[in-house]
Amino acid sequence: MANTVYLLLGSNEGNRLEWFEKAMQLLQDAGCNVVSQSAIYETAAWGFEDQPDFLNMALCVETSLNPQGLLALTQNIEAQLGRQRTIRWGQRTLDIDILLFNQDIIDTPQLKVPHPQLQNRRFALIPLADIAPAYIHPVFNKSIATLLLECPDNLEVRNYKF
Ligand code: AMP
Repeated sequence: MANTVYLLLGSNEGNRLEWFEKAMQLLQDAGCNVVSQSAIYETAAWGFEDQPDFLNMALCVETSLNPQGLLALTQNIEAQLGRQRTIRWGQRTLDIDILLFNQDIIDTPQLKVPHPQLQNRRFALIPLADIAPAYIHPVFNKSIATLLLECPDNLEVRNYKF
């Protein structure tokens, strides 16, 4: 497995934990190796207060897929788990963001890695810091823990109580 990748799962619709379980299973079925997972966090849906809260979880995945192949897989998993059937704009059965792909910097219309908003979002940095606090962000040359300390976002991100 040549590549080490960090993903962020998000859901604010239906059985949110079940989507996470199914997404991890589908990643494994496709030959990706889920090597670690963060705790699960709950965040109010920013800017859309009438929506259910989001759950987020970060994963470390080892894969032999290239970035485009991984994006195709994550989009396929999103589609399989029903995101296209979502009625109300903004609500998401399952969203999968590619946060980091090795130390690669990718800037194409389809794929931007590191994820361009990572450093601005506590709901991404907090779960990522669970599993990769010392990982160096290849654009800012700072660790994830440092980016979290410096993050201007003050949206509340709380541990999800089962
Ligand atoms: P969203 O609806 O916010 O999840 O955005 C999905 C779109 O973002 C897709 O069309 C992807 O091609 C694009 N995209 C660009 N960079 C990334 C990334 N790092 N991870 C996931 N999707 C990405």
